[in-house]
Amino acid sequence: MFTDQHLPATGILQTWLTQGTYVSSPQSMSCSQHPGASVQSVSNPSHEHSHAPICTVPGLSGHTAHTMPPHPATHSGVSSQGGWELVERLNLDGEAPRVGEQAAALLRAPECPAGRTTVVLSPEQAIMQVHESVGHPTELDRVYGTEAAYAGTSFLSPDDLGSLRYGSEQMNITADATTPEGLGTFAFDDEGVPARRESIVEAGVLRGFLSSRETAEQLGAGTGGSMRADGWSRMPLVRMTNLHLEPGEGSFEELLADIDDGLYLETNKSWSIDDKRLNFQFGTQIAWEIKNGQLGRMLRDATYTGVTPRFWAKLDRVAGPNEWQLFGLTNCGKGQPGQSAHVSHGASPARFRDVEIGVSK
Ligand SMILES: [Zn+2]
Repeated sequence: MFTDQHLPATGILQTWLTQGTYVSSPQSMSCSQHPGASVQSVSNPSHEHSHAPICTVPGLSGHTAHTMPPHPATHSGVSSQGGWELVERLNLDGEAPRVGEQAAALLRAPECPAGRTTVVLSPEQAIMQVHESVGHPTELDRVYGTEAAYAGTSFLSPDDLGSLRYGSEQMNITADATTPEGLGTFAFDDEGVPARRESIVEAGVLRGFLSSRETAEQLGAGTGGSMRADGWSRMPLVRMTNLHLEPGEGSFEELLADIDDGLYLETNKSWSIDDKRLNFQFGTQIAWEIKNGQLGRMLRDATYTGVTPRFWAKLDRVAGPNEWQLFGLTNCGKGQPGQSAHVSHGASPARFRDVEIGVSK
C-alpha cells in the first residue's frame, strides 16, 4: 500500500528538461528502452516537423497503453510514481537535440494570428483543460461553497448531477485513483475510502462529482474517495485523484486529416480561469498551422479562449488509446493554508471546432 502523501522523497521521480520545442524529425523509429514496443511517429517532412516517437508499453496502465512522457514538459517537468525505469524511459539525451533546435526555431516563428478556427490540443494541453475546467469545478466542496479560497467555488450546482450537458458526446471524463504510475494513485484516501475508478462525465453529461464522505452524504450520491491532505498537519480536502479524458479512436493523423484550416497547440505555457471555472484563456509554448489535413508552419505565442460548457460542446473527436498519455502535476493548489496536491491526468489529442484563438493580441 502506498499513497502519494506518504512516499519518501524519492518515491516520485521528477526530471527536468529545458523548456523549448523541436523542429527536426527524429531519425530513430525504435525505442532503445523497450525494443519490443511499438513506436509511432507523425511526420511532415516538407516542414521538417515531426512528433517525437511515442513508445507504447502495453500493460502499464489501466488504459490500453502507457506512453513515454513527451518533451518538453511544463509544470516542473515530467512526474510519475515509479522507479528508475521512468527515468530511463525519458530518453533525455536522445530528446535534447530536438528540443534545443525547436527552441531556437521558435525565436523566428511568426506569431499565432487571431480568429476562429478548428483547434487540436496535444495531450499535455488537453490535460490542463481537463484539470482547470472539469477537475476543479467538480470538487463537491467547491460546489457547496464550503471551500472558496484559492480560486474556489464552481459554476456547477448539486442539482446538475445527471442532467447538465457539460460537453459533446465525445467527452468522457473518469476519476481513477488506481491508474498505474499516477500521482493521484493510492490504496485508500485520507478518510479511509478505498481507491476506485468513477465516471465524472459520460457522453457529455455530468455523472459524478469528486467528493468526501460528508459531501457525498449531503448530495445523496457517491461514496467519497477524493479526500486528501498534503501532509500530516493539514486537513484533508476534496482533491482530484487522476482525472482523465478518455480516448476515442483513431490516430493523430486521422484527427488532422479532415481539417482544412486549423491550429495544433502543444505544451502548456499559461492558464487563466475565473473562480467559477467558466471563462478561461490558455497559452501554449508552440503551435503549428494545420493546412489540408497536415501540420504546416510553426507559430509562437498561441492562445485560445472559451467558456467551459460551450467549449467542451465543440469537442468533436478524441484520438484513440494509442495516443493516450499520462502526465503528473505536483502543484495543484487549494485551501487556506494552501496545500499542494499531486495529481495525474491522461488524454489523447482532442479536436475542437470553431474556437477563438490569438486572444492575447
Ligand atoms: Zn489545480
